Amino acid sequence: MDTATIAARLAAVLHDVQDCAARAGRAADSVRVLAVSKFHPQQAVLDAYGAGQRLFGENRVQEAAEKFSTLPDAVAAHCELHLIGTLQKNKVKHAVRIASCIESVDRLSLLAEIERHCAARSVALSVLFEYRTGEDSKSGFTEQAELEAALEYCAAGAAPHITPRGFMTMAPFTDDEHAIRKSFSTLRILAEKMRAHYPSLPLSELSMGMTNDYRYAIAEGSTEVRIGTAIFGEREYAA
Ligand SMILES: *Cc1c(COP(=O)(O)O)cnc(C)c1O
Repeated sequence: MDTATIAARLAAVLHDVQDCAARAGRAADSVRVLAVSKFHPQQAVLDAYGAGQRLFGENRVQEAAEKFSTLPDAVAAHCELHLIGTLQKNKVKHAVRIASCIESVDRLSLLAEIERHCAARSVALSVLFEYRTGEDSKSGFTEQAELEAALEYCAAGAAPHITPRGFMTMAPFTDDEHAIRKSFSTLRILAEKMRAHYPSLPLSELSMGMTNDYRYAIAEGSTEVRIGTAIFGEREYAA
């Protein structure tokens, strides 16, 4: 996809996201767009950057490192990278070097590993807790008690290098509006509960909504939509 096309698609997405926020009675700047560049070349990132985009998301540490650690310094200095894919422990060391936020924290042991590597490098990192709200999603906390253990860990000061900023989820892959909205409202209600339980934690973010369902997500309170296809086009999975 060429530079002008990516710029036009990005502008259309940003415009629509603001529209959706307004229709939901929310401020135009209350929803951030994370541009998901996985499986797209570095040039696509540069094109989006040229069109004003600063916040990017990638699924895999290796791919993210190849794409983002070789950006020109002037670009890299202004880009913010979030990791949104399931993270293996042996990738954490690398992950904390390239990302400012890991949105896919789905177990306490991963949180502990992130803290260990952040402490070793004296860096701070934001995290979101991924919660499984849809039947067919494979990732995320499934038990509220386990999620609470992770929040408790943060609230107790056990992870001083980590700032827990909120929650992330993926809706089921379906055309059923009711099922999609149920998934998003489940996360919103859970977040409200957790904010009340852990008032010392800044759990304001709700990362929910992708190309096919971000309008519903914004209506249900999303503060960050993760958009790949609508900006960069279809992904080509073939090597
Ligand atoms: C790929 C991906 C996205 C973006 O998906 P699109 O449908 O292309 O917008 C968002 N969130 C996660 C976790 C992803 O893996």
